[in-house]
Amino acid sequence: MRDMIAQINIDYDLCQDPLVCRGCLTVCPTVVFVCGPTKIWKFRETDTKEYKVVARYIDKCSGCGDCEKACPTGALKLGFISRAELRDRFRAERAAKLAAQQIQE
Ligand code: SF4
Ligand code: SF4
Repeated sequence: MRDMIAQINIDYDLCQDPLVCRGCLTVCPTVVFVCGPTKIWKFRETDTKEYKVVARYIDKCSGCGDCEKACPTGALKLGFISRAELRDRFRAERAAKLAAQQIQE
């Protein structure tokens, strides 16, 4: 298990009101989640629909699974990926990005 890294996916179609729910924010013992506005307008209060919860401090995750259990809508999914798989994924993403840049040049 030590070689595995936690990954959290949130389906924002199912997580529509995190400010009211706060399930994952409240239950996580290592304070992995943060909730904030995605858009800010000058001189205008941010619409509560513009708030999103994200797993900002995923490196602090112990993998306990409490957030997934606490999520009332099934929006939050916890998974694990091996370091080798994560490294391969980053490499593939970087190679694809470089290839796309070369096509543009
Ligand atoms: S699995 Fe546990 S430690 Fe990790 S984000 Fe969820 S509640 Fe927090
Ligand atoms: S517990 Fe689920 S529905 Fe509630 S804020 Fe977290 S992700 Fe959204």
